[in-house]
Amino acid sequence: MSSAARKIRLLMLLRRNGVNSTDVLRAMELIPREVFVPPTFHDQAYEDTALPIGHGQTISQPMVVGLMTQALHLNDRLKVLEIGTGSGYQAAVLAKMARRVYTIERHRPLLAEAESRFQALRLHNITARHADGMRGWPQAAPFERILVTAGGGMDPPPDLMDQLAVGGIMVIPLGPDRRSLHVVRLRKTEAGVEREQLWPVRFVPLLPEVPAEPGAAVSTGGMPGTMPPALIPPDFSDVIHQRA
Ligand code: SAH
Repeated sequence: MSSAARKIRLLMLLRRNGVNSTDVLRAMELIPREVFVPPTFHDQAYEDTALPIGHGQTISQPMVVGLMTQALHLNDRLKVLEIGTGSGYQAAVLAKMARRVYTIERHRPLLAEAESRFQALRLHNITARHADGMRGWPQAAPFERILVTAGGGMDPPPDLMDQLAVGGIMVIPLGPDRRSLHVVRLRKTEAGVEREQLWPVRFVPLLPEVPAEPGAAVSTGGMPGTMPPALIPPDFSDVIHQRA
């Protein structure tokens, strides 16, 4: 089957499973997912599965990207903050729907690879930064939308809540431990925060601060084609961003 046919099959699967926003489906049709996965996994780019991207991290399952994006109620006037750039795929999908996307990643080599993909795809409305996303991006706040693509904790990081505009929406996986996370939608109103639990999910953890960088050895050599197999987490079925 051609890659175009596989992509159509995936989009139809997403639609059958609740991604019914034509804007979300169009954005996912426009962004070539194969650009965001290591070459060894190109043949699986349009399967509905999370895939390893190095540094123990994964590109999320397309269904999770579709449903989380839909849960944000985006439009092209909004400024969005994403925490956990990873491969950059989710940010690229957001960039097709929002006015501007700010995205933060704590692993510098992943961020560099994502940024080169944004340039190659001419996604000029994305600004990316290497930092601890739990602190948010105060200089660019407030954000009308915040999407956190790493999970954990019972409540959202306070700095992120502070940087959400009144009337804004945050979508974030929350829960007592890694095995019992739910995607939660928070709406900030004048009166307080409304909280809706949407569906169970598995996500890699949201971790504080940025990892230490022991010299140049930390780089996987630029583009992910050079990712040694050892960087694929052995229990990667356990850390993937799948619907639980
Ligand atoms: N959105 C990504 C998938 C998320 S993987 C994609 O489309 O490919 C989750 C990412 O969150 C990982 O890359 C991990 O390094 C990052 N992360 C975890 N905690 C973080 C933090 N505090 N700040 C920034 N990034 C974080």
